[in-house]
Amino acid sequence: MYDLAVLGEGIVGCFAALRAAELGADVILIDERGVFGGASARAAGVFTVQLDTPRDAMLVAKSIELVKRYSKNSWIETGFLQIGREGALRESLEALTKCEIRYDVLDHREIMEKWPEFILDSSLKGIYTEQDLSVEPTILGRDLREALIGRGVRIYEGVGARRLLREGDELRSVKLSDSSTVAANYFVLAMGSWNRELLNSCNIELETFLLTCFAYRLDIGKSLNIPSFSDEYLHTYWRPWQNTLVGGRYDAEFTDKPDLSSAPPPLKSLKMSLKLLLKRLRTETEPRLVEHMRGPCSFTSDGLPVVGRIPGLDNAVIVDGLGGYGLMRGPALGYLATEALLRGPKTLDGFTDLSPSRVLKKHTYTR
Ligand SMILES: Cc1cc2nc3c(=O)[nH]c(=O)nc-3n(C[C@H](O)[C@H](O)[C@H](O)COP(=O)(O)OP(=O)(O)OC[C@H]3O[C@@H](n4cnc5c(N)ncnc54)[C@H](O)[C@@H]3O)c2cc1C
Repeated sequence: MYDLAVLGEGIVGCFAALRAAELGADVILIDERGVFGGASARAAGVFTVQLDTPRDAMLVAKSIELVKRYSKNSWIETGFLQIGREGALRESLEALTKCEIRYDVLDHREIMEKWPEFILDSSLKGIYTEQDLSVEPTILGRDLREALIGRGVRIYEGVGARRLLREGDELRSVKLSDSSTVAANYFVLAMGSWNRELLNSCNIELETFLLTCFAYRLDIGKSLNIPSFSDEYLHTYWRPWQNTLVGGRYDAEFTDKPDLSSAPPPLKSLKMSLKLLLKRLRTETEPRLVEHMRGPCSFTSDGLPVVGRIPGLDNAVIVDGLGGYGLMRGPALGYLATEALLRGPKTLDGFTDLSPSRVLKKHTYTR
């Protein structure tokens, strides 16, 4: 019997398990596909504190600290520039000011002086936060797996959770695809877009919805000394990594099942991303597509993530609904999920609006 079983070895599950190991718990981490087998490996890898709410900014600030602690090779501190018209930047500015994160506001001329590759007109400004990261997800996954093994976490890969077995209001064990059963005192459900499928085995229905998101890696022929950036005006985001830029347009399609296929994203999506990039950035050579990413993201209708105990499964915490900003909020939320179980529910006092009860179909569970 383990102290804690973590289901899902994505960004959330890895940090949930690392926190458990730090607290001295006996922990098992289970994943059907292996480390970063879901959305995490397919993420573009932008980490920025410039999200719309103070809480998100704080979560990303914590995640940056955690990624730096557990991975040496997967990130560079590029800083982040959010480009937009005055009105579009207001929410981010308010959030940064509230949580006392340092930022600079630059006008179009200052931006082009600092980074001559940008093309901006006088209606545009930028908010620059210097501690933000460009992260290579596949390297991060490898580093985290090593860190987990080094801290004695038992990793069980290639075997999926199939049924949650409960007694009364508690989860007792998980039945796996190899017919074995894993019992634990506490559970973290960190299967991202797959959480709702497994919860169905307990007649618990989550009202989340899935989108397939796309991103691209473009070879631009040389290493650019620019920050990662988003463009609220052109609806694109990019981060530099060696000779490439990774990112694209905020573009997604509804789906019923998580899509992990390697099919290329729609050509019109790539063409539009390229066109918009070239409106904003001078490149010496024509950008060349070298990789495309496609993966599932789980969303909630209020746009907030989900973290907390699941009514009817009182010894389990779920993390879900991270949408397209889960790589950068996942480390902090995975950490929090484990603390809520091993250190007590008070840990979640400031997070009641993220409670899973708001995304449960009311008729599906009984207490
Ligand atoms: C194209 C794209 C670009 C993105 N860009 C960014 C970005 O730049 N910045 C950012 O912050 N976020 C980005 N995201 C979002 C981010 O990838 C996700 O929000 C985040 O990875 C979710 O992490 P997770 O740990 O919750 O889920 P996942 O990474 O999906 O992990 C879930 C894990 O559960 C496992 N699993 C599934 N079913 C079972 C089962 N039955 N039993 C055991 N294990 C199971 C899966 O194999 C998987 O490893 C992007 C996403 C996509 C698709």
